[in-house]
Amino acid sequence: MSDVVLVLNCGSSSLKYQLLHAESARVLASGLVERIGEPEGRVVFEAGEHTVEHTGPIPDHRAGLRAAFDLVRANGLDPATLGIAAVGHRVVHGGEVFYRPTLVTDDVLRTISDLSVLAPLHNPANVIGIESAEQLLPGVPQVAVFDTAFFHGLPAAARTYALDAKVAAAHGIRKYGFHGTSHEYVSGRVAEFLGRDPNTLNQIVFHLGNGASASAIRGGTPIDTSMGLTPLEGLVMGTRPGDIDPGIVPHLVRVAGLDPDDVETLLNRNSGLKGLSGVNDFRELGRLIGDGDAAAKLAYDVYIHRLRRYLGAYMIELGGVDTITFTAGVGENSVEVRADALAGLERFGIAVDPARNAVRAREPRVISPEGAEVTVLVVPTNEELAIARAAFGLVTGS
Ligand code: ADP
Repeated sequence: MSDVVLVLNCGSSSLKYQLLHAESARVLASGLVERIGEPEGRVVFEAGEHTVEHTGPIPDHRAGLRAAFDLVRANGLDPATLGIAAVGHRVVHGGEVFYRPTLVTDDVLRTISDLSVLAPLHNPANVIGIESAEQLLPGVPQVAVFDTAFFHGLPAAARTYALDAKVAAAHGIRKYGFHGTSHEYVSGRVAEFLGRDPNTLNQIVFHLGNGASASAIRGGTPIDTSMGLTPLEGLVMGTRPGDIDPGIVPHLVRVAGLDPDDVETLLNRNSGLKGLSGVNDFRELGRLIGDGDAAAKLAYDVYIHRLRRYLGAYMIELGGVDTITFTAGVGENSVEVRADALAGLERFGIAVDPARNAVRAREPRVISPEGAEVTVLVVPTNEELAIARAAFGLVTGS
């Protein structure tokens, strides 16, 4: 049996795909489809250094996946004859129901769709992605890998909101956590890279991409994470505020006259770095700060302040930390964020070595000084590989 897996990550108007060998991690092709449903869509194919792109209308996800397949075929790879062992789907919300990689059946698909009440911006797109893949690759097992799964077993004290317990229970309101595939993969890589038994490590992981989250992991098991019922809670993100006073929401409704959809748009698309500075991309934020833009500097300071608040909280929750790891776009690339997030913490055994921090590499690396009490690392995440391995493991029973 071939170990080639197609990994799909569908958003509301985009999809990302990767064709890879689950065992060797070798990527055959990857790419994305953007602006689905808009007048001018875009399809990108990448294999090694080779990149091709097409633009044109893409009415829906099925057409998007077909366009991606066409481009893959035009570049010498035929999805129909590769012997794809499984399609691994990143599914955002598994609710209380799904916390393992799950073979998609009609019932499973219906339940994922029902869970859209908890993730209205994400699960509907995941359902469409699964249906599209079933149509284009009939007979190939479809496996759902849930972004919430890793955090399913959070301790009750960490997962419970102090709301009216009956209301919370009636509506599935608890902390679920997201980016779980990344936190699990990265914390596993840390133990592997350091040659340590994961059971002996207290870890804090910062996944800092467009979305951002932190987790506290004891002996391989998460004990807390910053995202909640939805991916809005926690750290400051590209376009989301992270933690805010919940009283702001009724205030916006009553005083500013916003309806629930307006509030959702404000919190998901127009807040965070973008809300404060006008830009959500960290590189642009850096350029603005370099030009002396005060709003951009404030956005950066708020971002760092929130990171440090979570760092402190998780150090105490864990009762001491062995490793602090940065991952995803900002975490892997921003020398400044890593330095500023951990500045002045020498009395806690935490320091960043400037020369090590400045190194650019695609491999895991330590950036704390030799012999430091707390090991600080940069570990590139690879959610596609983790999903491919989970899907392949499920269909091969390994
Ligand atoms: P997503 O959540 O969309 O998967 P990524 O993990 O790709 O996001 O992270 C995107 C973020 O990473 C963007 O804010 C981008 O500006 C930032 N980023 C990428 N490269 C760099 C870099 N060299 N320096 C600073 N930030 C970077």
